[in-house]
Amino acid sequence: MIPASYVGRFAPSPTGPLHFGSLVAALASWLDARALGGHWLVRMEDLDRLRCSQAAADIILRQLEAYGLTWDRAVLVQSRRDEAYAAALDALRAQGAVFACTCTRSQLADAPRNAEGELVYPGTCRLHAVPRGEHHAWRVRVQDVSVDFVDRIRGVLQQDLAREVGDFVVRRADGLFAYQLAVVVDDAFQGVTHVVRGADLLWNTPRQIYLQRLLGLPTPIYAHVPLVTNAAGQKLSKQTLAPALPETGRRAVLAEALAALGHPPPAELVGTAPADLLGWASAHWRIENVPLHPTIAKPLA
Ligand SMILES: [Zn+2]
Repeated sequence: MIPASYVGRFAPSPTGPLHFGSLVAALASWLDARALGGHWLVRMEDLDRLRCSQAAADIILRQLEAYGLTWDRAVLVQSRRDEAYAAALDALRAQGAVFACTCTRSQLADAPRNAEGELVYPGTCRLHAVPRGEHHAWRVRVQDVSVDFVDRIRGVLQQDLAREVGDFVVRRADGLFAYQLAVVVDDAFQGVTHVVRGADLLWNTPRQIYLQRLLGLPTPIYAHVPLVTNAAGQKLSKQTLAPALPETGRRAVLAEALAALGHPPPAELVGTAPADLLGWASAHWRIENVPLHPTIAKPLA
C-alpha cells in the first residue's frame, strides 16, 4: 500500500565524507521515497560535537548532490535541537520513565553484554534519588516487555528489551543527548513515515519504538538494508578506513551501489548520467529485491 504522504530521510553523522557503504544506505532510502512518490529529507546527526564538523557536513551534501540524491526542505541539524530534546526528556521525567544514573564506565565494566556486544545495564541506580549537583546520566526505565516490529526487508522481529538492552541512556553525564532520544524526537518533528537505513541500526529500532510509545509519537515503518563490507568482512566505516566516494567515475559507482541493492541496471544504462540511472532505478525499485543477507561484499577494488 502506498501511503498518502511518504516522508523518508537520510541521517548521516558528519564525521567524514560518505563512503560506498553510506552511499548504498542513502540510495536505498532515496529510491524508496522517490518510487513511492514521497519526500526525502536529510538530517545531520552531529550530537557528538567532538567527532562531527561543519566541513564534513558540507562535503556530505556536495556528495549527495553529485550523485543526484536531491533532498526536499531544509537540512535539519541535531546540534541546534537541544531545546526539543530537553522537552522530550522533561516529558519522560514527568511520567517517572527515567532515572538518574551515576554509574561510571569502570563501575559498569563487569555488566553483562548482549549479542551485539553492548552493555546490558544491571539496574544499579534504579532506586536512587536524583543526586544533587553530581554529574549523572538519565536512563529510561525499561519495563519487562518485548518490542515487536515488522521490517519490510527482514519481516517480523522481536526484542526482549529488559533482558537484551536494559535501562538505556537518553542523556549522557556530559550533558549530550543520546542518539536514541534525538532520532525519535527528530523523526516525529520531521514527519518521517518511512525509515530505510543500514542494518547496523537494526537493533536500535526496539529502543526507538519504546521511546516513541512513552512520548506518544508515531512509529515509522522500518526497512534495514544490508551493510557493505570490505574484503576483511568489516562494515565500511571511517574506523575501517573506507575510502571517500570518488569524485570521478560516479556513474560506475552508482551502478555498483544499485547492484548491491539487488537492482543492477541494464548494460545499456551503465555509463549514463546519474540522473538517468536514478530515473531507471526509481521506476524499477522493489524493496523486496534488496538482498536479505546482512552483509554484501563491496564490489569495488
Ligand atoms: Zn547507574
